[in-house]
Amino acid sequence: MKRLVKNGKIVTPEKTFKGDILIDDGIIKDIAPHIKSDAEVIDASGLFVLHGGVDVHTHLNLKLGDRQVGDGFYEGMRAAAFGGTTTIVDHPEGGPKGCSLHHQPDYYKKLLLSEAVIDYGIHGIFQRADEDILNEIPELISKGVTSMKAYLTYDDMLTNSDIDKILNKMKHSGGITAFHAEDDTTIKYLRDKYGKEGKLAPIYHAKSRPAESEALAIQNILDIAGDAPVYIVHLSTRLGLEVIKKARLDGKTVYAETCPQYLLLDESYYEREDGIKYIMAPPLRTKEDTDALWKAVINGDIDVIATDHCSFSCADKIKFGQGDFRKVPGGAPGVETRLPLIFSEGVINGRISINRFVELVAEKPAQIMGMYPKKGCIKIGADADIVLWDAELTKTISVKELHQKCDYTPYEGMEVTGWPRTVILKGEIIVNKDELLIEKGFGEYINRNRKAIGA
Ligand SMILES: [Zn+2]
Repeated sequence: MKRLVKNGKIVTPEKTFKGDILIDDGIIKDIAPHIKSDAEVIDASGLFVLHGGVDVHTHLNLKLGDRQVGDGFYEGMRAAAFGGTTTIVDHPEGGPKGCSLHHQPDYYKKLLLSEAVIDYGIHGIFQRADEDILNEIPELISKGVTSMKAYLTYDDMLTNSDIDKILNKMKHSGGITAFHAEDDTTIKYLRDKYGKEGKLAPIYHAKSRPAESEALAIQNILDIAGDAPVYIVHLSTRLGLEVIKKARLDGKTVYAETCPQYLLLDESYYEREDGIKYIMAPPLRTKEDTDALWKAVINGDIDVIATDHCSFSCADKIKFGQGDFRKVPGGAPGVETRLPLIFSEGVINGRISINRFVELVAEKPAQIMGMYPKKGCIKIGADADIVLWDAELTKTISVKELHQKCDYTPYEGMEVTGWPRTVILKGEIIVNKDELLIEKGFGEYINRNRKAIGA
């Protein structure tokens, strides 16, 4: 079906211009000031025309033991769509002990097939680094899993020698390794110490994961990395940022992702009565950190703003962890509010241009994760994933209005200007105002490929 997005202000990382976009068969066929066509017209007068958001860090359907997030694949993707995000790359939980590297991506792919309402990729996860696992890397990458994550804390922690092997193999296979960078030794010691001292209020969650532990872990990874590309997920501190900046000066390829929570919230939230809601790893940081991260968002040191969407409910946080921060299921929802929050705080507040905005939330993540130019850009030949953006609409964020399946939002009560009006995925209108217009299964797996873009 042919559609014509007419009279909008089209935004790319380079420029903003008035024009029309002709879509045929889900693909952008033409972009020009005035296109004449018999296609069905979608009127974008007075609206910005952005590429759909690309959120490369979500945890949908996550299950850790007896703890399960609220948002399954369908609910989480529906929430993403309402927030203007048309593509995610999801991080699976660890698979059964001893499982192959293919296991979790294959399992997620199967589950997503009938549930997806937006397009998706799946990250791999390293749970060990023996010969079998290393040998699987090239094949998994050839199936579109071009990025895989390693944890430096939690149960599936890898040693430095593991990381060395992984980075090397990933580099030669055209993949990128993502790291959750927190130093395990420091954290274990402090959790134990605060536990013994009976210091178990939410603020000790932050105190037990100090900024130094992030910086130390990043330094450690980059010391090992050589010229292998490294992607640091959810960067949260000024100290960690400094390590990354220095490594770049030394010629290392390292990408930095941060999330709205590390830009907009700080550790004072742990002192509130509902402080338990904000337990996530890494924790919320100081005002000095949020300032440093905003500066990095502005000057280009941050590449990506994703969410780490992980929707354990507040009810479960209380049920499992009231009175002991160590037992609280960590994580917070955010996939639906990412674009409005960053637009409002970034663009409306005059910190960044709308062009930088689309670079951070769509183009750069699509490039780094190997989905570009199919995703992440408004160009002829790309998928027609388009958001008609109302830059004047102001709403107060409330869990009651959101579509996520989670009983709270960390951003409750924040007044935000700039929301999606209409969301188009592969030429189909998937959201119009308050309505989801497509069926489960419309979202498709993206066969990612980093070689094509040389990122
Ligand atoms: Zn995560």
